[in-house]
Amino acid sequence: MEDVELMRRALALAQEAAEAGEVPVGCVIALGDRIVGEGRNRRETEKNALRHAELEAIDAACKTLGGWRLWECTLYVTLEPCPMCAGAIVNARIPRVIYGAADPKNGCCGSVVNLFALPFNHRPELTGGVLEAECAAQLTDFFERLRLQRPRRRHWTRQQATGNGQQETGDADCHASVRTGSQ
Ligand SMILES: [Zn+2]
Repeated sequence: MEDVELMRRALALAQEAAEAGEVPVGCVIALGDRIVGEGRNRRETEKNALRHAELEAIDAACKTLGGWRLWECTLYVTLEPCPMCAGAIVNARIPRVIYGAADPKNGCCGSVVNLFALPFNHRPELTGGVLEAECAAQLTDFFERLRLQRPRRRHWTRQQATGNGQQETGDADCHASVRTGSQ
C-alpha cells in the first residue's frame, strides 16, 4: 500500500474519534503492506491522558508482532506526534514516521522541537505533510462544530484574578486545545 492509502486509513480512524466526541487523531502502523496496529484518540471516553492514537497503535502492533521492537514498521498519524508519543516511537524503535498536519503548539517532529533530530539511541526518518490539507481540515471542522454546539462558556478577566488592573480576557475552561487546534 502507498503512504497516501495508509494515511487515508488513519484519517478514517480520526473520523471515528471525531464522531465519538474526541479530537480527531488517527494512527496506523504498517509492516510492508500489512497493517499491524491501529489507534485513535480516546482521551475523553476513557478519561485518560495517555490514550493517544499513536500509543494505542503501538500497543496493538506490539501485540500483533509479539515483541516491543517495531524496527521494520512505518507509523502513519494524522497529527504531528506530541512529546509522549514521539518518545514512545523512539522506544519502540520505529524507523519511519509519516504525519499529516503539523501541531505548532505541541508537535515534537519539527514544530516545537524535533525529538528525532536529537542524539537519542534511535532516530526515525520523518516525513510531514502527507494529506496535510485533509488532516488539518478534519481538525478545523471538529473545533468549529464544537464551538457551535457548546453553550457559551463563562469568561474570566485577569483583573479579577490578580487585581493588577490589566484587562485581559480568557476562556475559563481548560480546553486550550479547542482554541489552538492542538491535541
Ligand atoms: Zn501523543
